[in-house]
Amino acid sequence: MIIKKIFVLFFSIIIFVLLDTKEIFEEKISFDSCYLPTKKVALTFDDGPHPYFTESILKILTEYNIKATFFLVGIQAKKYPYLVKLLSESNHCKIGNHTFSHKNLTKLSEKEIFNELYLTYQILNSITGGKNIIPYFRPPGGHYNNNVLKVADKLNFKMVLWSIFTNDHSKKITEKELINTIIYSLSSDKEIILLHSGSKTTLNCLPKIIEILKERNYEFVSVDEILEDETYFVN
Ligand SMILES: [Zn+2]
Repeated sequence: MIIKKIFVLFFSIIIFVLLDTKEIFEEKISFDSCYLPTKKVALTFDDGPHPYFTESILKILTEYNIKATFFLVGIQAKKYPYLVKLLSESNHCKIGNHTFSHKNLTKLSEKEIFNELYLTYQILNSITGGKNIIPYFRPPGGHYNNNVLKVADKLNFKMVLWSIFTNDHSKKITEKELINTIIYSLSSDKEIILLHSGSKTTLNCLPKIIEILKERNYEFVSVDEILEDETYFVN
């Protein structure tokens, strides 16, 4: 009888210790997850839609269930409206304005700048009905001046540049160089990475880039989400 009591007592202690350990373990998990920093990254793809690569980029974004932003050129959008529609219908994309003909806006008059932005706005909206179009533009080559900002302001467009320049549009860049550029450039909890829709190198290593950013706890968001109310001009 005593042996039985001792056994029950011993068994109860074991159960108690196990339950207690579980509680501590669970508390630790919730404690850790509370203090995980929120890091955000916006992948941006310029110069599209591209007849061969845009659809493949979208497929990768969908497979990884992440978001990205495409800055589209008006001329390209006019040529490939079905790709604009495809991007707009996806839950993984937001679409920004990258001017009509990809000219250096600082070389144009105010009227010409207006046309570059407004014409593209009209094309994108007529194709998509405004779905997933964001009021952001990126000036080609990152070139802007006061006239550009003044016209953009009239149209209620906000300018967005980037925090990481990858040089992925260079034909000479290798996959390893592109990946290393991104790894060594990550310096902030909020990053906007400039990539291009027409780069085969970018398309080939996009899964690797996504995996590296995921490993580093970056959440993939569109540029409008990352900027929210902040002014985010990078020179
Ligand atoms: Zn461009």
